[in-house]
Amino acid sequence: MLSQWLKESNYTVVLTGAGMSTESGLPDFRSSGKGLWTKKDPSQIASTEALNQNVEEFFQFYRQRVLGLNEAKYHQGHAILAKWEKEGLVRSIITQNIDGFHTDAGSENVIELHGTMKKVHCQSCDREYGNEKYANEQFICECGGKLRPSVVLFGEMLPEEALVQAAEESEKADLFLVLGSSLSVTPANQFPLIAKQNGAKLVIINMEPTELDLYADLVIHDRKIGEVLKEIDR
Ligand SMILES: [Zn+2]
Repeated sequence: MLSQWLKESNYTVVLTGAGMSTESGLPDFRSSGKGLWTKKDPSQIASTEALNQNVEEFFQFYRQRVLGLNEAKYHQGHAILAKWEKEGLVRSIITQNIDGFHTDAGSENVIELHGTMKKVHCQSCDREYGNEKYANEQFICECGGKLRPSVVLFGEMLPEEALVQAAEESEKADLFLVLGSSLSVTPANQFPLIAKQNGAKLVIINMEPTELDLYADLVIHDRKIGEVLKEIDR
C-alpha cells in the first residue's frame, strides 16, 4: 500500500525523529535511564543556563556527544530517503534530529528543526567551525567568545526560518511520512496535522503508538524504519 502511495504522490514530505537516530546506535538523550549522563537531567546541562553558568560541564557534555556522534553513521533508512529524493519520490525531510545523518547520506532538502551537531559556532561573533573543535577540546573562538554546538538548547526558541519552511512543506504535501517520532513535542507534531488538513495521506512508522495515530491513514508499529523502507524500496 505504502509503496503505491509513494509512487502516486507528487509531493512527499518526511518527518524524522529520535527513532531514526537510535537505529544508528545513537542514544536518545531525552529518554532517561539510558545513554549518557543519566545522573543529571539533560535539560539542565544542555541549556543556555549551563552555557552561561556551568560552562565546563556544558563543554564536556557536548564533547561526549560529539565524540559519540562521530563514531556513529547513517543507516540504510537514511540512504534510501536520499535515493528517493534523487528519484523524485521525496521532496523534503523535516527532522527533529541533530545528528546531520540525512545530509551525510546525501539528502539535500533537509530542514533541521533543532539545528545540527556537525557544527559549532561562536556565541559572541557567530563564526562557524566544524565540530572537531569540540572533539579537540577547543571550546573558545579566536575572538575569545565561547563556542557552542549549533543546536537548539533548552531555553532557546526553534529557528523561525526552519519552522516556516517546515509548515510550507507540510501544506504542499500529498503524502506525509512520519518516521520514528512519538509526535509528543510541539511544534513537530503540528506538521502532520497541517499536512492532513491540506488533504495529504498521513503515514506513521514508529516503534510505539503515537498521539496522532488516530489521524493516520496507515500506522506501522514495532518495526525498524530501515527495514520497512528497504521493503518498500524493492
Ligand atoms: Zn567569535
